[in-house]
Parts: sequence; structure tokens; C-alpha cells
Amino acid sequence: MSFDPFKLARKNIRELIPYSSARDEFTGRGSIYLDANENPFNAPYNRYPDPRQKLLKSKAGEFFSVSPEKIFLGNGSDEAIDLLFRVFCEPGEDNAVSMSPSYGMYSVCAGINNVEMRKVLLNEDYSLNVKSILEASDEHTRLIFLCSPNNPTGNMLEISDILDLAKKTDALLAVDEAYIDFSGTNGVLPHLDEFPNLVVLRTFSKAWGLAGIRLGMAFASEEIVGLLSKVKYPYNLNVLTQDYALKMISETKQREEWVREIVTEREIMVEKLDRMPGVDKIHPSKANFLLVKVKKPKELYNYLKDKGIIVRDRSQVELCEGAVRITIGTKIENKILLREMYRFYSGGKNT
Ligand SMILES: *Cc1c(COP(=O)(O)O)cnc(C)c1O
Repeated sequence: MSFDPFKLARKNIRELIPYSSARDEFTGRGSIYLDANENPFNAPYNRYPDPRQKLLKSKAGEFFSVSPEKIFLGNGSDEAIDLLFRVFCEPGEDNAVSMSPSYGMYSVCAGINNVEMRKVLLNEDYSLNVKSILEASDEHTRLIFLCSPNNPTGNMLEISDILDLAKKTDALLAVDEAYIDFSGTNGVLPHLDEFPNLVVLRTFSKAWGLAGIRLGMAFASEEIVGLLSKVKYPYNLNVLTQDYALKMISETKQREEWVREIVTEREIMVEKLDRMPGVDKIHPSKANFLLVKVKKPKELYNYLKDKGIIVRDRSQVELCEGAVRITIGTKIENKILLREMYRFYSGGKNT
């Protein structure tokens, strides 16, 4: 069966005539702009940003080896996640499926859009259960969310499992690869053209060190990108974000260095935590964090918090019982964390 994103999209979105901004209607180069009611002073910030993000998409396209028509840029990948619901899921009627445990935003966006989210538990080893995901789906399933490397478990899903699911489902398959840069692989992005229902989510928030500028990406077919673009706010990416992202894309050496250092530190942390009293298990991670099963996770969390060190208590999350999630910091930060953990577990204080 051939996949047609237009058939999957909500009727009102299919028929929607998008807002046409001044910058949409005139795209050439003028010398005097009197068309958008902008203030003539305070250049360059007095001007509206490019609603189509042409320059940034062309540079991102070169960097990721994806043609610009297949790139959606959003105010964080969270915007892309929300738009997927708004474009494809009829509130109160359609549903989505996601794996669990995973990133919380899929369910939150589903809830905001009044879309039922069906959560399918991962296997005990955190691998994907393709069969269960398909069993949870029905003819009203419009979206399936996967996350690889997964937050908070840190592992990658098998590419063959992801592609198998893409082939077997009639829904859109969104694969969130926010942490892929720390995995040493290129994830499923190279398979984009083989699966018309595949959406790959990436972000500038992690490996690029740009969580503060809010920039996320969705790679998908031209048709899917067109639908998302039709619904987004016309000026969803501000001038500062677009300019700064362009600067960072042109200086990728810095990013490569950061990623190398974080990955090296991750492996050092695995070794050191492995010898730490109180640590029961370190889940293998391909991301910039470790999920660590420890004794007394709540007490550890509070002890560290009192020392000004904040980790994420995930001990109440299903399949993560007793675990805390620790982001890899700088060498110094990691050292201080280890020192305090050691004090907590061996020092007698609070133990
Ligand atoms: C951090 C993270 C993101 C990033 O979201 P942005 O809105 O781009 O900052 C996306 N997905 C997952 C799973 C994450 O952990």
C-alpha cells in the first residue's frame, strides 16, 4: 500500500490556506522595505525573520546531507512533536503509540491535543518490541514515536527493528534522535528516502550546546514537511536563533571537540561508577547521560541536591526502578559528583 501523508492529515489542515506574510509575498531583494509595518530603526532586529528559513535550511541541508525541502525547522524539536499531533491527529478520535519509558513530551503533546497515547513497554533489556507496538495500533493510529538513543535509558534501538516497524505500519513513524551525535552512528537518517512515512527528529539542544536558542529539526518527505510548515507560526524562528545557528554550523570543529570530550568522559564515568559502593547497575549508554541503578536513590538525590549537585531521580519510572539519570558534565563537574557519591555511600553520613 502506498503511503500518502495528505490522506493521513486532518481534513481541516489539508484544506487550510496558510497565512501569507509580507515576507512570503515578496521574496526578492528590495532596498526600501515599506510592506510589513516594521520600524525603520534598530537594524537588523527591526526586520521580521525569514519565515521559510531559506539560508539556514540550505546550510543545514549541506551539513546533514538532506535536501532543504525535506527539512522542517522548529522552536525546539518540541515544536515539531506538537505539530505532528496538530497536523495528523483528529482530537478525540485518532490515537498515537509510543514506547515506554521514554521522553515525556510525546504524551504531554498528545494530552494537549486531546489525542489518546498508547504506551507500549520496552522489553526488559530496553529493546523495542515491534510486535507489541503493532498490536497496540489500529486504524486510528496516526503517529508512532520512538526515541533512539532513548531518554532516559540511554540505549539505542536496533535500526533493523525501527525499519521493520516503518515498513509494517500505516502510521507516521517519528524517530527522535536527539542524542544520536553521542552514538558514533548516523541513526536512521540515511534511510529517510526509503520510507515515505519516516520522520527523523534532531535537535541543536544537546551535541551543539544550543538548548538556549531553541532550534529543532524534523527530516521527512517534502509532503510531510510542507504540511508541518503550513501550520507553524509564520515567524517561528527568530533572527537571533537563525543567525547564531548559521554561525555554529560554519564552525563544526568546536562541536566535534565537545562531543569527543563528552563521550570520553562518559566512558570514564562508567568505569568509576562501576567501582562505586551503592551502585548496582550502569545501563550501557550511547547518549550524554547515564541511567544508574543505585541503593537509596531518593536519599542520594536529596544528599546531592544539598551539595548543589542536581541529578534526575527516575526511580519512580517504569523499568527504571531505583535509578537516577546523570548527565555527563565537564571533567571537574563529574569528579565532584563522584566524590560526593562516594561520601554518601561509604562515609556513613545519612547511610
Ligand atoms: C532533550 C531532548 C529533546 C530536545 O528537545 P528540544 O525541544 O529540541 O530542546 C528532544 N527529544 C528528547 C528525547 C530529548 O531528550
